Amino acid sequence: MPLDLPSAAAQKVRFGAGLRHSIAGELEEIGRFRALVLSTPEQSGIALDLAGDLGSRAAGVFSRAAMHTPVEVTEEALAHARSVEADCFVAVGGGSTTGLGKALALRTGLSQIVVPTTYAGSEATPILGQTEGGVKSTLIDPAILPDVVIYDPELAVTLPKQLSATSGLNAMAHAAEALYAKDRTEETNKLAIEGIRAFAKSLPEVLENPGSLAAREETLRGAWACGAVLGRVGMALHHKLCHTLGGSFDLPHAQTHAVVLSHAIAYNAVAVPELLAPIQEVLGREGPGRAIWDFAGSIGAPQSLKELGMAEGDLDRAAKLAVQNPYWNPRDVTLDGLRALLQDAWSGAAPGS
Ligand code: NAD
Repeated sequence: MPLDLPSAAAQKVRFGAGLRHSIAGELEEIGRFRALVLSTPEQSGIALDLAGDLGSRAAGVFSRAAMHTPVEVTEEALAHARSVEADCFVAVGGGSTTGLGKALALRTGLSQIVVPTTYAGSEATPILGQTEGGVKSTLIDPAILPDVVIYDPELAVTLPKQLSATSGLNAMAHAAEALYAKDRTEETNKLAIEGIRAFAKSLPEVLENPGSLAAREETLRGAWACGAVLGRVGMALHHKLCHTLGGSFDLPHAQTHAVVLSHAIAYNAVAVPELLAPIQEVLGREGPGRAIWDFAGSIGAPQSLKELGMAEGDLDRAAKLAVQNPYWNPRDVTLDGLRALLQDAWSGAAPGS
């Protein structure tokens, strides 16, 4: 059963195979004539194809988007956008490329069309994380919510199996933390459960048959739902830990989410088991943390920080950093509690509950 399309008028969202070929029409609709197409270096081929499709409505291609939106890359892209007199941005790729589009929109006020090819969900949020001098800061600004999002499952079929699994768990993490968010509503609960359900069903299908457009479309619908809740409610311990591990220990984004999620959810399940019950109902296992751990294992996601390259000697510092300026959390976050959680996540042990 496909998820409902978003009702928020602020953003136009479409799902469908081949829809990337309709971007020229979207540009016409929003009155834009000179799009700068953005991508990472690895996806420059797709960016060039899209620009070719746009014909005279393409002003150029900038293919140097990078993880965590480094300000120096944004400034380079901004200079490029000005030199080609771009009047909007088309970002094709994962959260890194979407981040660049948002950073450019923030600085220019120009419209963005996003064509997501991972499940990170940034396209559905007004949130931007940027890195300057090795320090990551996050801002929220309704003006940077992309105007149009085009989910084309044909572009997701190339997402490698392991990145499909970890990116899916990254999306599920937004939904899992939304279930106990202080500012949750009936609507965000519904979206979160729909997002988790979409991935629980379609991620195993995608891994079995990576070329299945139906399964890929279902994962993209899940990505939108999980991204939408990330943009609507506050996140807690899990996102704080991943932010710390990514920012201070340079661990890869989606993989870190995939490893930490079951442990953070098991930690919080002690305080709010009833709010997390939908996770075990959807995944069909006892205990929400354990259910996620089993699911992650079944789809071949990494299950230890050790295998992501983190040194055991860094765990003390990570725990100390993560208790500083804590996000609101449904359970008290103690240094000892976090240190134990990190030890399990590092070694790959199953979470407690
Ligand atoms: P990513 O965008 O860095 O992509 C990872 C790699 O996979 C890149 O090389 C990319 O080119 C490649 N790739 C992407 N899609 C592909 C496909 N379909 N086929 C083949 N290769 C593909 O990774 P990500 O996990 O999507 O994004 C991570 C970034 O997004 C982080 O910087 C994170 O902070 C940010 N993020 C922001 C928000 C937000 O709301 N602001 C939400 C989630 C993530």
